[in-house]
Amino acid sequence: MVPILLRCVAPSRASAPRPAALDGCGQVRHIGAMVQPFWKTKSLEEMSKAEWESLCDGCGKCCLAKLEDEDSGDIHWTSVACRLFDAGLCRCRDYENRRSKVVDCVVLTPEKVRAIKWLPDSCAYRLIAQGKDLADWHPLVSGDPESVHRAGISMRGRVTALETDMARDEDYFDHMLDAQP
Ligand code: SF4
Ligand code: SF4
Repeated sequence: MVPILLRCVAPSRASAPRPAALDGCGQVRHIGAMVQPFWKTKSLEEMSKAEWESLCDGCGKCCLAKLEDEDSGDIHWTSVACRLFDAGLCRCRDYENRRSKVVDCVVLTPEKVRAIKWLPDSCAYRLIAQGKDLADWHPLVSGDPESVHRAGISMRGRVTALETDMARDEDYFDHMLDAQP
């Protein structure tokens, strides 16, 4: 098995729209038919740039190194993160300039979401591409960017090394995970 770095971008959470807060008056108002959120009504291709960016849950899993078995093609996850990953904040340290610093950082598109086999099962892009709904812990559902961390879904506190710590390819084996994080 040889280590290859398979990863994609974790879109910025900074501009993620949040569900509007309810006022505290306690009154029930009849406002007609409920408007469905965009991820329930639009395909990946139909989303605006802001909607697309907000769909990322900020889990950071796609910034982990994965190992591909040369013979079987099987993917094995590691807890080694990209050199540009801030393990404490669980986000890219230079999202705007990431491509000039990490040339193999893959920019997700609808086509790539459907083609890439190593996106985690929890990835919001993958879920929507599969016709599924977002989980309660997704920031777009909860209205709280911290909910993905509280739910234990993200890689916050779970990264054991950065790729810059790996002197040899074999060093990745010490950080292999038994299953998808
Ligand atoms: S450069 Fe690295 S840390 Fe930043 S988004 Fe890409 S894979 Fe993640
Ligand atoms: S795995 Fe998907 S949801 Fe999680 S950070 Fe990467 S792109 Fe965003």
